[in-house]
Amino acid sequence: MKVYRIEVNKVLCTGCNDCVVSCPVNFDQLKEKGYLNDKNAVILVKNGYANEVYDENRTINCTGCGICVEICPQKAINIKIVQLL
Ligand code: SF4
Ligand code: SF4
Repeated sequence: MKVYRIEVNKVLCTGCNDCVVSCPVNFDQLKEKGYLNDKNAVILVKNGYANEVYDENRTINCTGCGICVEICPQKAINIKIVQLL
């Protein structure tokens, strides 16, 4: 199975939160549950910079849509496709 993973350059990231609020997966979860946390978000700002939230066993994952990459003012996000065994 192939999955999308995002990488955030912590040197470039300012923690502005734009990626978190622009992500459609996060938005759908926020609408459905009313909150974002480690269980349902796919990207969250913690400790001053954005962090991918990923777990192989999750049903909610990054779709690779690229919106966060486009919206990031620092160009700090990259997407990669990972083949899981
Ligand atoms: S949009 Fe870019 S600079 Fe802002 S928190 Fe996300 S990765 Fe960091
Ligand atoms: S690529 Fe799309 S689904 Fe994945 S974290 Fe970025 S905005 Fe969200």
